[in-house]
Amino acid sequence: MANEQAEHAPHPPRPSSYQCDVLIVGAGPSGGAAAYWLAKSGLDVLCVEKKHLPREKTCGDGLTPRSVRQLYEMGLREKLGEHHRYEGLRALAFGRELTMAWPSHPDYPSHGYVVTRHDLDKMVADHAEAAGATIWQGAEAIAPLGAHAATGGPAEGALIKNHDHGSTTEVRAKIVIVADGANSRFGRALGATRNRAVPHGLAIRGYYSSPRHADNYIESHLDIRDRDGAVVPGYGWIFPLGDGRVNVGIGLLSTFDRWKQVNTTKLMSSFVDYAPASWCLNESTQLSAPTGGRLPMGLSVGPRTGPDYLLVGDAGGSINPFNGEGIAYGYETGRLGATVVHEVLNGAGFAHLDSYESELDRRYGLYYKTASKFMGVMGHPEIMRRLVSTGMHSQTIMEWLLRIMSNLLRDDERAPAELAYKALAALAQRRPERVS
Ligand SMILES: Cc1cc2nc3c(=O)[nH]c(=O)nc-3n(C[C@H](O)[C@H](O)[C@H](O)COP(=O)(O)OP(=O)(O)OC[C@H]3O[C@@H](n4cnc5c(N)ncnc54)[C@H](O)[C@@H]3O)c2cc1C
Repeated sequence: MANEQAEHAPHPPRPSSYQCDVLIVGAGPSGGAAAYWLAKSGLDVLCVEKKHLPREKTCGDGLTPRSVRQLYEMGLREKLGEHHRYEGLRALAFGRELTMAWPSHPDYPSHGYVVTRHDLDKMVADHAEAAGATIWQGAEAIAPLGAHAATGGPAEGALIKNHDHGSTTEVRAKIVIVADGANSRFGRALGATRNRAVPHGLAIRGYYSSPRHADNYIESHLDIRDRDGAVVPGYGWIFPLGDGRVNVGIGLLSTFDRWKQVNTTKLMSSFVDYAPASWCLNESTQLSAPTGGRLPMGLSVGPRTGPDYLLVGDAGGSINPFNGEGIAYGYETGRLGATVVHEVLNGAGFAHLDSYESELDRRYGLYYKTASKFMGVMGHPEIMRRLVSTGMHSQTIMEWLLRIMSNLLRDDERAPAELAYKALAALAQRRPERVS
């Protein structure tokens, strides 16, 4: 961990003004993917990242088959292969344990990887640069240029602060892709807000050294407890990195009525005490203090399109509410945004930006609505306890849940799954949701 924040050479001085086809704000999964696909389509792309890569980023570092597919399609199969591959998920709860391989699927691989965001985001940004994107590091987009951007007007580009020199650059762009993550200050400057009726999440993670660092299953604990032993709606994870370390964390749902009173650091330390002894998680193996962040889910942030801009990844609230996964959806929405922008600039016209929103709805709308409702139900500790303890008695039920919750259903499974969605949605109507 000591070298996670490596020294960097200062970037060269930048001009006071600059022009490009597309400006991307942020070089996480969504911005990196957008930069790669746009550069590949031949457009003149500038991606600004306020930090220097590689940089540490608070995350569980878990890549599911959905993420792996996107990385393979970007041409990163070989590079990804240098990291820790795993085969499926081990679920533990209420004294039971179930091991489930990733399902076989015609469109997705049957394996995942665990890669630190330190390494992953640099890998994708370097790849985008090699494809022709310009990446400015230590470059923060401070404000849109458009005078009426906050009230629905065009962004017109952004004012960029060059941190290594203290200078600024006015970047004029035909289209801006906002990929600045969960806090999305730039998105908010364009008038985007979070829909508070949709649940969101909170997660915290830290690194430990562990003799089981090369385990080829990731582990999920579905019965995390507070200090008094009461089950709290959420889950704990242990993701092996294969380099001597494991990533350990917990995630919590805003649908839990006492969620604001939960001290996540204490909950994390009680999970660490309670985790199987074979992982050897304790103070002497802890490598850094845990850090946390918010999980904007279920396409809860919008509007995601404006006259000359799009919001992708966490900036648009694109995390899957079922499992808190956001990297795959960052890659997917970044790529979709890039496709739409390419069409707009190749003759479809700016009104076509709206097709980004309709395509998001087509791909994720029903699924995310159901997931959000389901999370409303799971926020009630007693219901969560009952559902999990019932599920843990059946390998078949849990394998179905894994496929549904990680969005890996095959087309021929969608009809029964839709029935399951309807049942879940009906269940969700019976209890009031409390979110804030
Ligand atoms: C504790 C925790 C654990 C998680 N675990 C997992 C997991 O295991 N698997 C998974 O799939 N998802 C996980 N997630 C979710 C995942 O981290 C996010 O969904 C994902 O990072 C979203 O990617 P993004 O590109 O939209 O945003 P980010 O990854 O947040 O990237 C945004 C980038 O923009 C930069 N930036 C911000 N503002 C500006 C600005 N004004 N100018 C220039 N640059 C800027 C930031 O420095 C950052 O590099 C987890 C989240 C948390 C908090």
